[in-house]
Amino acid sequence: MEYNVLKGTHDIIDVDAYNYSYIEQLLTNVANLYNFKEFRVPVIEKSELYQRGVGEGSDIVRKEMYTFEDKGSRSVSLRPEFTAGIIRSMINSKILLTNDLPIKAFYCGPVFRYERPQLGRYRQFNQFGIEIVGSNNYLRDVECIVFGYTALKMLGFKNLELRINTLGDKNSRESYKTALVKYFSKHIDNMCNDCKERLKLNPLRILDCKVIEDQEIVRGAPLIKDYLTMESKTRYENVLNALDTLGIVYYEDDTLVRGLDYYSETVFEFHYTSDNGNNYGAIGAGGHYADLVKELGGPQLSGVGLSFGIERLFNVLKDNDLLQKNPKIDLYIAPVGEVDLNYIMSVVYTIRSNGYSCEFNIESKSITSSIKKAIRANANYLLIIGEDEIKNGIFTLKNLETQEQLDIYEPDLINVLDQLYEESEHVHSHESSEENN
Ligand code: AMP
Repeated sequence: MEYNVLKGTHDIIDVDAYNYSYIEQLLTNVANLYNFKEFRVPVIEKSELYQRGVGEGSDIVRKEMYTFEDKGSRSVSLRPEFTAGIIRSMINSKILLTNDLPIKAFYCGPVFRYERPQLGRYRQFNQFGIEIVGSNNYLRDVECIVFGYTALKMLGFKNLELRINTLGDKNSRESYKTALVKYFSKHIDNMCNDCKERLKLNPLRILDCKVIEDQEIVRGAPLIKDYLTMESKTRYENVLNALDTLGIVYYEDDTLVRGLDYYSETVFEFHYTSDNGNNYGAIGAGGHYADLVKELGGPQLSGVGLSFGIERLFNVLKDNDLLQKNPKIDLYIAPVGEVDLNYIMSVVYTIRSNGYSCEFNIESKSITSSIKKAIRANANYLLIIGEDEIKNGIFTLKNLETQEQLDIYEPDLINVLDQLYEESEHVHSHESSEENN
């Protein structure tokens, strides 16, 4: 009996996992530059947290949550997104009351949504995101966008599209919703069942309906920009002006509303289209929220956040050849002939203890087998240790790129490695400084 992964879930193994870590580490490094601090919150929370946080009207809560009763008859859910859990942790820890505001958090980990799996859409996927909580200044929205933009550029993305919109404040949205209900009520009989429900729960969500016939109707709907209060209009203009000043190109998208109910004012998404025209959908998205903290039992503070889907980042980078193919190791140890394997083990131990990565071939004592394995393992050097080598205390070190060989007296091994790596680093930094000139 062979077991397979559940539909919509996937294993991330070996070189792929290495590249997931690479992406997460790069995003972490950028988050550190922006002074975000890491928050790790549970994968499982009370269902109510998400019902209140993400919103009863959202598709996520209505249809996509992994919700079940635990053995104590409590309704619990696997997190379908991070923001509600992060805000809960900020409220519980009281840092919103005791620390300087805003609090800047970053997070990374799996989320679960019972969606229809398709290209780039999973039921368990990974998100990396940021939240800035406790400031209403529009420049914090801009900071979030700039973080996303910088991180994507550093990962190597070229054809980025930043889509932006405003949902206005509560008053703007109330009058806009009234206008939408009036408009869609005339058409709703010809629209999909989801839209019929959205009209009752959250008419804004009709705007990003994916049904082609419905989109035709959506095109004639009133636009939020005609219903903005003066404050919301100015706030949005300030955000756009700041992006202009920074030279960040954006595209204003009137239909961008986002799938989570807590958003207000600025909302945005990063999209990517490859050179050959592949559209990968939203690779990252976020926005401002005014009432979420209060809604979850905290003080009246607003915040702004952004979340990347790591699977989507990975897929784009892989398709564009921007990932590592096979990580290198420093040495591969080849025991040859009748050698004492405990001795080989002690050499391996010394090498690793001195900070060099290495693998050894105790499964075979054939040099041909070791050379093949060393090349497949992507080793920089092959260290040959045979009976004669042990007798004389001299190893043979072969550079697998240049094929140069070197005899090394055993006690000098680590010093020689240090020297070789120092020289090659010098050559590399020299090469890259020449490239930069
Ligand atoms: P959201 O939490 O819905 O704002 O989504 C944030 C980001 O997560 C999106 O921009 C996508 O990159 C990613 N994402 C959302 N849903 C999925 C999914 N089902 N599978 C993979 N990635 C997803």
